[in-house]
Amino acid sequence: MDNEKEKSQTALLKEKLFSKSVKGLQSVSREEIAEADEFAKGYMIFLDHAKIEREAVETSVKLAEENGFTEYDPQKTYQTGDKVYVVNRKKNIVLIVFGKQPLDKGVRLAIAHIDSPRLDLKPNPLYETNELAMFKTHYYGGIKKYQWTAIPLALHGTVAFKDGHTVNVAVGEDEDDPCFCVTDLLPHLSREQVSQPLSKAIAGEDLNVLIGSRPFDDSKESELVKLNILNILFEKYGITEDDFLSAELTMVPVFKARNIGFDNSMIGAYGHDDKVCAYPALMAVMNIQNPEYTAVTILVDKEEIGSDGNTGMQSAFMEHLINHLAEKQGLKGYQVLDKSKCLSADVNAAFDPTYASAFEQNNSSYINRGVVITKYTGSGGKYDTSDASAEYMAEIRNMLDRENIQWQSGELGKVDGGGGGTIAKYVANLNVDVVDLGVPVLSMHAPLEIISKTDLYMAYKAFRTFLQ
Ligand code: MN
Ligand code: MN
Repeated sequence: MDNEKEKSQTALLKEKLFSKSVKGLQSVSREEIAEADEFAKGYMIFLDHAKIEREAVETSVKLAEENGFTEYDPQKTYQTGDKVYVVNRKKNIVLIVFGKQPLDKGVRLAIAHIDSPRLDLKPNPLYETNELAMFKTHYYGGIKKYQWTAIPLALHGTVAFKDGHTVNVAVGEDEDDPCFCVTDLLPHLSREQVSQPLSKAIAGEDLNVLIGSRPFDDSKESELVKLNILNILFEKYGITEDDFLSAELTMVPVFKARNIGFDNSMIGAYGHDDKVCAYPALMAVMNIQNPEYTAVTILVDKEEIGSDGNTGMQSAFMEHLINHLAEKQGLKGYQVLDKSKCLSADVNAAFDPTYASAFEQNNSSYINRGVVITKYTGSGGKYDTSDASAEYMAEIRNMLDRENIQWQSGELGKVDGGGGGTIAKYVANLNVDVVDLGVPVLSMHAPLEIISKTDLYMAYKAFRTFLQ
């Protein structure tokens, strides 16, 4: 009897003191799982229409307009509840719902990125070799090169002509479209290749895409296969070889988003990083009414290559926009930024039992344990990252618990195992409170990445609560 009593006191103490933040799917109701499955359907459609940043912006504008957003008019004065969007160079979009509080109380920002790793065409991509037409590529973002060989690829992007007009290109998405491929060496002759370390087995200059094999005619001219391809491109898009120079064309996997698992609990797709945060951040800003603070969702470009450039998070674009909004209320931009709070909406690496040694299990994020808070990213001794303050972490976990949103915390793998970054540090540099919050991903940066539907839904709930 005594022993039993003692045990229950121990159990009570454990209950009081041990972490309650690790909650599996058992903590999520059947109704909520059904809501997550429903939410995932819209996400899968979004993914199939937003493989590159320009398409993500176009799709977002369409959704925004359907949800009562109008293009921001700098001359106009806006009231609480008004919904506007601003597009920067066709590759960023900012969506704003004006709040009850004036801007000197700060804004609430959810910022995700809409670019994903891929194979960009070089400025002079087209060549013929041994009667095959090929594109030279320059990979974009962090890829494991072998993953991009021997899979079907689609061509996406835009060509800008000297007269100022542009043509959008998307080949490979329809069943009837052709698609393209980086060839790989047969195993029979790969003795040398497979003895190389993984990082050397496929070189950057080996990522050449096969795009054609038939000559234009049987004349004695040279490069007839290349000519035939150019002729096809000219007839369809008006492209000549020099126009590639003023184009942004890229090869992405042709895969459409698919359910993964007999239980349909996960989604496999290209570009979860970071559309799996961009979509819920977008839906969140669309589904709030009269928020307390002005709510802002920003979808940025160039995160995968360091957030540089005028469409990346390091661009002054956001600051200029905040300055402009501040001036209209007789404020300086910094007065708004100083009081603002941000969720940097980006993915983290989900623990993969097959590669367990890359992770530290007590500080990893897991599929189906909800949205993941990442206090810092970076590498080595916490270099190249924003480290969210204890106070801001407390505020965010309080918000998640209060709203019964399933969440977990995670580091990006083992100490000194590698590393990575997000846009958080660039937002922090503007003197804004910020922490990374997003969805755990298996096979991150692979042509087919995997996420959990309930984690996606928890991200949506988190962003909506934060922005409201
Ligand atoms: Mn990312
Ligand atoms: Mn990434």
